[in-house]
Amino acid sequence: MKKITVLAGGVGGARFTRGLLAHLAEVEPSTEVTVVVNTGDDMWLDGLRICPDLDTVMYTLGGGINEEQGWGRPEESRRASGEIAAYGRGWSWFTLGDLDLATHIVRTDLLRGGSTLSEATEFLCRRWQPGAVLLPMSDQPVETHVRLAADVDEHRAGELMHFEEWWVRYRAGIPVTEFVQVGLADAAAAPRVVRAIENADVVILPPSNPVVSVGTIMAVPGIRSALQASSGQVVGVSPIIGGAAVRGMADACLQTIGVETSAAAVGLHYGSRTSGGLLDAWLVDETDAAALPALTAAGIRSAAVPLWMRDVPSTAAMAVAAIALARA
Ligand code: GDP
Ligand code: CA
Repeated sequence: MKKITVLAGGVGGARFTRGLLAHLAEVEPSTEVTVVVNTGDDMWLDGLRICPDLDTVMYTLGGGINEEQGWGRPEESRRASGEIAAYGRGWSWFTLGDLDLATHIVRTDLLRGGSTLSEATEFLCRRWQPGAVLLPMSDQPVETHVRLAADVDEHRAGELMHFEEWWVRYRAGIPVTEFVQVGLADAAAAPRVVRAIENADVVILPPSNPVVSVGTIMAVPGIRSALQASSGQVVGVSPIIGGAAVRGMADACLQTIGVETSAAAVGLHYGSRTSGGLLDAWLVDETDAAALPALTAAGIRSAAVPLWMRDVPSTAAMAVAAIALARA
């Protein structure tokens, strides 16, 4: 195995990749891993460019993540955001810790100086040494918004709200009718993304949110066709176990696009690559083994193994199973 490419969101993608890298370090340390990261959650806050999923992947792989939260830095303080609030500015629902702020300041400075997001990410990674190449899905801003459903009090039906506000401030509790990627029409896959997907021996869809992480990456012009053209095997890992999102509110996203919250339904939603979909293979949790016949019938090779990312060793075992299924 020479090249593995992972298409990741934030916490689920980051933790899976950490397990993958731990496994490869033991058995195939020369394998090149590239992580194409969702930037649909990016936004401007207090004049700074925030890239939540890129930072989660970078901090997780670089040993700088707040483990309990799954995002941000450990031993954080909030003095700067307290000062911003004292001016009556800022977003009370989105915390920017002081250490984390430094990352956003450096990134914003690079972007304002003319760097692309790919270049700024590469620069930040020189410090964090994540052990994989991190690529934003696109160098152009693509920001996921939700369209508010009718009869939501204090909000006007049909209005767009930034995904992060819906997710973090409202805990995905407001009904929405669709996800809209603002900026998509002017966006393209970042320079090294298409090659990383086409030339990979294995492409992994980790247990990331199928709608607003993997779905957003797939919407970027050039990425879906690269996946379909890839000479490697494409294997996905279910983020749904026993009919529920393991952490967070992915069920609210799936419901909005009319997909049942189950490992089988998400696998079938991605579809088999032989019929225009994304997957050659799909890993479900051992408790979802009953889903295997339907997946096989749809042309998706599948297997059932434990999929709880409890710690690095259990996550590394998932990566082993994903690679084995890709090679089967
Ligand atoms: P986000 O951008 O931080 O929301 O992270 P991702 O999109 O990468 O991943 C979020 C998804 O990870 C959630 O919707 C969960 O379904 C999934 N997830 C979290 N922990 C686990 C786990 O231990 N096992 C599995 N299979 N999925 C998980
Ligand atoms: Ca995210």
